[in-house]
Amino acid sequence: MMIKNQENKNFIHFLASHAKNNGFIFSSSEIYGGLNAVYDYGQYGVELKNNIKEYWWRSMVFLHKNIVGLDSSILMHPNIWKASGHIDEFNELLIDNKDSKKRYCPDILIKKYVENNFSKCSKRKKEIFFRLSKSLKEKNYSDIRILIDELNICDPVSGTKNWTKIRYFNMMFKIKEEIEKDLFLRPETSQGIFSNFNNIKKSSRMKIPFGVAQIGKSFRNEIIARQFLFRLREFEQMEMLFFIHPNEEKKWYEYWKNIRFKWHLLLKLGDNKYKLSYHKNLAHYASAGTDIEFNFPFGFKEIEGIHCRRDFDLKKHESLSNKKFRVFDSNKNNYIPYVIETSLGLDRVFLAIFSSSLEIEKLENGTERTVLKLPSFLSPVKAAIFPLVKKDGLPEIAKKIFNKIKINYRLVYSQKASIGKLYRIQDAIGTPLCFTVDYKTVETNTVTVRYRDTMKQKRIHIKKIPDIIDKVTGFEQVLKELY
Ligand code: ATP
Repeated sequence: MMIKNQENKNFIHFLASHAKNNGFIFSSSEIYGGLNAVYDYGQYGVELKNNIKEYWWRSMVFLHKNIVGLDSSILMHPNIWKASGHIDEFNELLIDNKDSKKRYCPDILIKKYVENNFSKCSKRKKEIFFRLSKSLKEKNYSDIRILIDELNICDPVSGTKNWTKIRYFNMMFKIKEEIEKDLFLRPETSQGIFSNFNNIKKSSRMKIPFGVAQIGKSFRNEIIARQFLFRLREFEQMEMLFFIHPNEEKKWYEYWKNIRFKWHLLLKLGDNKYKLSYHKNLAHYASAGTDIEFNFPFGFKEIEGIHCRRDFDLKKHESLSNKKFRVFDSNKNNYIPYVIETSLGLDRVFLAIFSSSLEIEKLENGTERTVLKLPSFLSPVKAAIFPLVKKDGLPEIAKKIFNKIKINYRLVYSQKASIGKLYRIQDAIGTPLCFTVDYKTVETNTVTVRYRDTMKQKRIHIKKIPDIIDKVTGFEQVLKELY
């Protein structure tokens, strides 16, 4: 294997160009030079993305009798964001370099500089970190600016110290100003669940504990939006809020941490690629939090967050909306439920799977092949069907097989190239199975099946094709292992 998850820019470049050339990911608005940190999912990207969503949705909604789904709107009343704290708290600091026009988080800029220029235990390093955290806590941004000057920190791109003032920046996209009303693109999907709490509780007749799952777009005006699909300005989240009695917070927090970790492991990208990281700096709404981190090509980074949100949101909505969000316990006392939130970034899961699956493999005959060894149940195309040659009735038989089973599976039929070339095309998009119709098919009703990962071939009866596709690409095997 030549390239396999090399932790460098070349690998990301290789990944992005493979994703583009094979119809997975395109830059948004490419014909006008692209748009920073916004991407489009192409013909195979959308299939892979839909399959990841299905894996999550089934694991949450199908497998829990007390979890239901929701699809709430992106635009919501501005008071939602007032109550949730996003208008006041969802801020980042930023600083620009006037020469390179590059934008940075000043605290990260300082931390990186100090890590690179001072020894691990140096006294000066400790002093700088102490001063930085004190200034951050006291919102003393002019001192952080002074620190950048004192340390003579240069922009890594322009090499100059021509910095702007430090500004405080709300990460929500404001899209419209009406009289007394600002509309925002939602920065998380959870608020649609909180605001529908009473509707769902009443219409579903569910009792605590119960959960609501939602998949949808979120938007954040990220300052440092780089690293391909990792940090986007428009992205998709798969979030589930589990409403519980306050006494059961610990129990459910542990339960969801374990289940969510297992969900990732079942993708079989490698157990050592995941780790848990416990939050020290909590989000404004959380009382405890754990990140599931994945070893992306640029190192371990958050892929999913599991948070105890207590009654923070429902309480705030109670006071701002004058509506009650209460339930009764067995003693007929009312209380506001606590919430455990599991929050997963769909694009980050996509990146984790795509980057772990792409390989260049050296073959025994000295050639090589590029193969996307995706978890088969998530592959965009489940199977390809080819005639060995374009004559003697073989295409007709192959098309007949295709038409008979296409209703159940996403298939590809092709006769446009030689069989070897057709296999390579399917390898590159991660198709786990290829069935080839040849002269023996006419006599024996058998075809060859070729497996993506091993390239091994076997003769099987035509009737067995659906069974093999089910066995290799079905969700059932994976989901069965989750509980
Ligand atoms: P980070 O620290 O990486 O910015 P976060 O802690 O702000 O992430 P959350 O607010 O907990 O993230 O959001 C939940 C999940 O949504 C994250 O675990 C991540 O998978 C995804 N996510 C958040 N921001 C982005 C983004 N800008 N682009 C893509 N996915 C994102």
